[in-house]
Amino acid sequence: KRQTYTVPDGMELGQGDYVRVPLGPRQMTGVVWQVGGNAPDTAKLRAVAERHDCPAMPALHMKFIDWVAAYYLENPGQVLRMCLRVPEALAGERQQVAWAASGRVPDKVTAQRQRVLDVAADGLARRASDLAAEAGVSAGVVKGLQEQGALKPVTLPALAPFRDPEPGHNPVTLSAAQEVAARSLRAAVTARGFSVSLLDGVTGSGKTEVYFEAMAAALAQGKQVLLLLPEIALTGSFLRRVEERFGVAPAEWHSAVRPRERERVWRGVATGEAKIVVGARSALFLPWAKPGLIVVDEEHEPAFKQEEGVTYHARDMAVLYGSLGGFPVVLSSATPSLESLWNAGRGRYAHVALEARYGKAVLPDVSLLDMRRQKMPGGEWLAPDLVQAVEQTLQAGDQALLFLNRRGYAPLTLCRTCGFRLACPHCASWLVEHRFRAKLACHHCGHEEPVPKACPECGSEEALVACGPGVERLAEEAATRFPEARIAILSSDLSRGAMLGETLRDIARGEYNLIIGTQLVAKGHHFPGLTLAGVVDADLALETTDPRAGERTWQMLAQVSGRAGRGERRGRAIVQTYMPDHPLMQALAAQDRDRFIEHESEIRERAMLPPFGRMAGIIVSGEDRDQTQRFASSLATMRPQASDVQVLGPAAAPLAMVRGRHRFRYLVMCARDVDIQAYLRQWLSGVKPRGSLRLSIDVDPYSFL
Ligand code: ADP
Ligand code: ZN
Ligand code: ZN
Repeated sequence: KRQTYTVPDGMELGQGDYVRVPLGPRQMTGVVWQVGGNAPDTAKLRAVAERHDCPAMPALHMKFIDWVAAYYLENPGQVLRMCLRVPEALAGERQQVAWAASGRVPDKVTAQRQRVLDVAADGLARRASDLAAEAGVSAGVVKGLQEQGALKPVTLPALAPFRDPEPGHNPVTLSAAQEVAARSLRAAVTARGFSVSLLDGVTGSGKTEVYFEAMAAALAQGKQVLLLLPEIALTGSFLRRVEERFGVAPAEWHSAVRPRERERVWRGVATGEAKIVVGARSALFLPWAKPGLIVVDEEHEPAFKQEEGVTYHARDMAVLYGSLGGFPVVLSSATPSLESLWNAGRGRYAHVALEARYGKAVLPDVSLLDMRRQKMPGGEWLAPDLVQAVEQTLQAGDQALLFLNRRGYAPLTLCRTCGFRLACPHCASWLVEHRFRAKLACHHCGHEEPVPKACPECGSEEALVACGPGVERLAEEAATRFPEARIAILSSDLSRGAMLGETLRDIARGEYNLIIGTQLVAKGHHFPGLTLAGVVDADLALETTDPRAGERTWQMLAQVSGRAGRGERRGRAIVQTYMPDHPLMQALAAQDRDRFIEHESEIRERAMLPPFGRMAGIIVSGEDRDQTQRFASSLATMRPQASDVQVLGPAAAPLAMVRGRHRFRYLVMCARDVDIQAYLRQWLSGVKPRGSLRLSIDVDPYSFL
């Protein structure tokens, strides 16, 4: 929300300053968007309460916020809010008191006191709580030593400073092909202007090493570098790779970063001291002081699209940021999005290709397993040919991977007696059984309940049966099939944060030899001993209403196959499918990406789907179904006539209810050169949903539920 305030006497305010201002009965944090100008009635204005002691928001960042807001038809205030998520960082440089040994001996040296003194004997200053924790004593013991003067206070900056990375710390010797690619990216950086390069290289070709060279060039200019990754690819081993290359650990930015570290990174980015930030999509909204390069790794990942609150696509906004700030952007992927390939094909993006794997590694053989010809007993999902391949792999001492993109044990539970299906009470969706946690869960709203003993409908006992496979059930099948195997399950429910990192490390070390996972395993991990990737249900992702379903399936299957054979030994991928004749499966088996892209592009072009046309979703939701539907229909009568815009809907959304809210959708489609934002603004800017009704606009939608 834009508001006008007066500046109290004695306060110096400039554009971009962070301030505290009164808003209604509350005080809010805001940013000075503009200073000066004439207000109609200054007597009615309230005054700015306080100016925060931190670097002003750069003009570029303010411009970025305005553009993001305009593109997604959001209120700039909503976008700004994403930049103000670390209120502590605005409070000014804090100091903290730490304690070090003074050399004075306390009156009475108890065993506990001695432990503290032993810890402090290295002369380093520590916070009292850290000292107590390290010595394994209570806070009281440390306090006693402070009072006795055996520990002396030392003031330290509350936030540890950032060390500068060294561009030339530990470069690798690039192969000839990598060097050609690196040279092109370095040139983009030294040109000091806006450009987008699509680094398009097969899995294991060394894309990371190549874009590190672009990062080195930007660091050598004293600029900041943002490396964006899909959240689940942000692993310890990746961060260590950055550290090994540049000599210092990069700053991290994602949902698991602790508040104090967030504060440090936010300020480091604002002052320009944090030179490398490796982050999830929200890192774009840090107040960049000297941005010199953004690298978007796994640029095809749908995880870059934020679906809650302000719906934005981090890859697209990275490109926007680069164009506003006049600096280069690198998009990297083994399976680039159709959008990026289209831009590269038209010369808007530089196309930088790496066609072979690095070193001795070669791409795996991909074969299709025609499930129509396999004898599958009920309740089993691994076909005999795949089982045999896994056995061979394990016997040879290698690792195998089984991929099924479905969390939990079974996607549906039903009653054998009456046919009742267990559904979420708040959403139009089935409950997914998570057997390890002994819960039924809704994947849309998070609702959980224990698995009932009897059917809630007819009361039959022991009549509930699990239908269909999830990774947990697959693991169960694998455990009986391969009793000797050391099985690791990788799923976002079961492994998070530190635990996930540990599991990944153990896999890389070979402690597990059979890995069973969801899309979590498809994300750029490097397991040199893995030689077989088995896809349990290749058709799964094709069965959706998503116009990108084909592309998504292709990317996922190519990425999963790409996990195999990254070391010395050749890998292979086996893909179970009921549609072996589908052009996508055929192209996958032939490892012929161009054929798939061509096929997919034709379909999209005919239907005017992105990248050939523009799309926006309009979602209307409310607590009462009839009222919501009436509101949705009433919008249709208001829509501006435009021959070049096609509007579909309103229709009940495929996911007709979420969190107790009924949902209806419109889909707006037009050619690329039509200003879809202007059309939507003309249609909807005057609409004010009342009561529980909500209207949200999703420009460039990725979810069609
Ligand atoms: P991609 O990101 O394309 O999948 P990576 O950059 O992860 O590929 O490279 C795959 C593996 O090969 C990694 O272990 C990487 O360290 C190694 N590698 C790639 N290029 C080189 C090089 N020029 N010298 C040494 N090792 C390399
Ligand atoms: Zn029943
Ligand atoms: Zn639910």
